[in-house]
Amino acid sequence: MPELRRRVAIWRQAGESVAVVPTMGALHEGHLSLVRQAKAEGGRVIVTIFVNPLQFNSQADLALYPRDEAGDAALLAGSGADLLYVPEASDMYPADFSTSVAVAGLTDGLCGANRVGHFTGMATVVTKLFLRSGADCAYFGEKDFQQLRVVQRMVRDLDLPIRVIGCPTIREADGLAMSSRNRRLPQAARAVAPALYRLMQEAAVALEAGGDVGAVLAETGAAVLAAGFARVEYLELRAEDDLTRLERLSRPARLLAACWLGEVRLIDNVPVRAPAGREDRDAPC
Ligand code: AMP
Repeated sequence: MPELRRRVAIWRQAGESVAVVPTMGALHEGHLSLVRQAKAEGGRVIVTIFVNPLQFNSQADLALYPRDEAGDAALLAGSGADLLYVPEASDMYPADFSTSVAVAGLTDGLCGANRVGHFTGMATVVTKLFLRSGADCAYFGEKDFQQLRVVQRMVRDLDLPIRVIGCPTIREADGLAMSSRNRRLPQAARAVAPALYRLMQEAAVALEAGGDVGAVLAETGAAVLAAGFARVEYLELRAEDDLTRLERLSRPARLLAACWLGEVRLIDNVPVRAPAGREDRDAPC
């Protein structure tokens, strides 16, 4: 950590702003897009790689999480990153570590429902990374939409002096959202995987055309299974801003899903625009 502090202090003395891009490594174009966006907005960019044990609710999932330090360093060279920060777990969490950051409500459903402790672990490590880096702004992907909203809420609630910027999801040519977990997809499953985004886009079109929310979700869930997915963990329509569950398309929304393809859990989300005139006048923002 002293090296991180020293470098940031030098940049600050030179009047430069500092951005941080927290990741768990096994980097791909999605991660690099955050680095490029951070760089494009000026200042120095710190990329952190930390496979955070606190946010895995399964030891097996933690053990299987892809790691590729050499590949990551090679990808980052030329990306615009100024510093790669890779802390050790023992440094992040000393043996008597006993503090956590929990964001209530927003974390109850979706990825929070089936991954006990996931968001508390994530919020705790992100808080530490924000404080260690002292960054002015942080870049997160919309790919993990609930995570983005949780981090934004946490920053607002705790008055953390950092600006959180959401960046669009980067996809493979066939539409599959890029993810470190895609590396674990066998070839046959990889061929099935793009169906999730395709069916979610079709659902968004049907919802925007006035389709019944319950019926569209049920049809889409069935189509995802028919395409070859093993299980739909969740497929829900939520308000874009505060993730309230929506029974009707009354506000700008997101369709969010987590689905299992064999042993691999994929998540994705697509925006769903509320038709003009159907937005609730008293919708909270
Ligand atoms: P991860 O390494 O999966 O924890 O992701 C680190 C950051 O990269 C998070 O802010 C993610 O939302 C973001 N990210 C991951 N995949 C993508 C993607 N396909 N497009 C844009 N951002 C992404």
